[in-house]
Amino acid sequence: AIHIRNLNKWYGSFQALNDISLNVQAGERMVICGPSGSGKSTLIRCMNGLEQAESGSISIGGTEMSADGPSLARIRKTTGMVFQQFNLYPHLSILENCVLAPMWVHKIPRKQAEETAFRFLERVNIAAQASKYPHQLSGGQQQRAAIARTLCVGPKIILFDEPTSALDPEMITEVLDVMIDLASEQITMVCVTHEMGFARRVADRVVFMDSGEIVEIATPDTFFDQPQSARGKAFLAKVF
Ligand code: ATP
Ligand code: MG
Repeated sequence: AIHIRNLNKWYGSFQALNDISLNVQAGERMVICGPSGSGKSTLIRCMNGLEQAESGSISIGGTEMSADGPSLARIRKTTGMVFQQFNLYPHLSILENCVLAPMWVHKIPRKQAEETAFRFLERVNIAAQASKYPHQLSGGQQQRAAIARTLCVGPKIILFDEPTSALDPEMITEVLDVMIDLASEQITMVCVTHEMGFARRVADRVVFMDSGEIVEIATPDTFFDQPQSARGKAFLAKVF
């Protein structure tokens, strides 16, 4: 589970997160939405230590996040992240991308790491591309490879930051299908996305952010059909 309490984050004099408190239960699927610049990426990046907040606290799986190495390393081992721009290592094949962290961070022997990699590459339907380099794959294939790579370390939590927004429309579905498949497991998913169909189908709760604040937390049905806030209504009117 993720516990966030009274988180405040500034970039210089600009406050990007304003007193954010949020609990994500183990196994929960949470979607974060909101207008551009509302702090979604900042919040999700704080959840795996890519950004540090000035005040407040985050604990993940019982480990309090702090700037010291050991707790951050522990959190990173259980928390995977999937980015808009895939972030695969360009000089490594898809297979090597998948075995890197298991071998060097988790000390898993190559043979076993490769077996795990192939299992997940098969699951996201790109095992045939294992020896190719990222630039030889389509955007949708690269994103599925990035998801497989994340799965290879056996994360308890996966954070997604707009995983489909860099993709051509015809590739969005293939990535969403993989995410829907994942959602049927016990993995905790926190997903920043504008894919409202995905949110409705998969999310247990939707968090709506605006101007660095959490404005609403609701079930997808409630949020999409009866947003409680004026800002939520205005956002949905623009999205649909
Ligand atoms: P989008 O939907 O466009 O991805 P977002 O909700 O993810 O937006 P963030 O990226 O979290 O928004 O940014 C929140 C605010 O913080 C924005 O106003 C942004 O300009 C500002 N910001 C983000 N990163 C930095 C940074 N490194 N330095 C200064 N300001 C930043
Ligand atoms: Mg963002």
